[in-house]
Amino acid sequence: MNCRNCAQELRELNLFCAGCGGKVVTDRVLVRILWTEFATSILGWDNKYFFTLRMMLFRPKQVLKEYLAGTRKK
Ligand SMILES: [Zn+2]
Repeated sequence: MNCRNCAQELRELNLFCAGCGGKVVTDRVLVRILWTEFATSILGWDNKYFFTLRMMLFRPKQVLKEYLAGTRKK
């Protein structure tokens, strides 16, 4: 099997392409799978999406200052 992004040959157990770093997708893209990825990345317990939104509303100066200083994840 080859990478769909850069066409480099993939090994069977690789989860990511060694050439481009793209995620290896073995399943068909379905609405159910897209919804699951959206739900886990935006609505999941371990995400910082709503925390960052709240901080941007109440302390935008602090968030921007930390972002410009290089902080990407706490
Ligand atoms: Zn690739």
